[in-house]
Amino acid sequence: MDDPSDRIQLIMTLRRQGIVDARVLSAIEKVPREVFVQAEDQLKAWDDNALPIDCGQTISQPYIVAFMTCALEIGERERMLEIGTGSGYQAAVLSHLCRRVYTMERHPALMRQAQKRLHDLGYDNVTTLLADGTNGWPEQAPFDKIIVTAAADSIPQVLIDQLREGGILVAPIGESRDNQTLVRVRKLGGRVEQEDLLPVRFVPLLKGVARET
Ligand code: SAH
Repeated sequence: MDDPSDRIQLIMTLRRQGIVDARVLSAIEKVPREVFVQAEDQLKAWDDNALPIDCGQTISQPYIVAFMTCALEIGERERMLEIGTGSGYQAAVLSHLCRRVYTMERHPALMRQAQKRLHDLGYDNVTTLLADGTNGWPEQAPFDKIIVTAAADSIPQVLIDQLREGGILVAPIGESRDNQTLVRVRKLGGRVEQEDLLPVRFVPLLKGVARET
């Protein structure tokens, strides 16, 4: 449940693991993670673990959410694109740090749940779209930052095209579930600079909108 000491414990764990950005830690502390996990996992909501959500997907481990958020170097006036809304948790964290979050999801059921949570919690700077995120969101491009929360074999060029000059994209890349790396891409002078950050394990980035189950 929402025991304040659970939140403090998690923030301390993240700090010990090297997450030192006070704005990111404060955003993690503010977002009620228990609202984003399944009813049976309420007691585990503030543990530093990934948890299952509907449609065979997962809500990422808080450490990974914090790490990716730091890697994006977010400015408060920025507009961000997230591919893979899932539970809506990462979008909620981002919404505390930037001007607007555009977030896309391919599963109708997950999108409905995420929309309801974000609305009920008053996150009115988050805009959602049920669509295949591999096409990005051309109508809203260019974005200052892009975060992909599902793994692809390579970085979709469309997303790089929708990043502004000087922008950053963070995404898990890898051919198999057991061999993925979190990469950071900076678009500089029309060129792309790529850095490997961390071994990770994400669900796959899939094409198309999923059928209603
Ligand atoms: N950021 C989420 C975790 C997402 S798990 C959270 O905080 O809870 C990855 C999500 O990406 C899943 O919900 C999956 O359905 C979604 N996804 C996979 N491929 C996609 C695509 N092409 N477009 C949009 N969403 C996609």
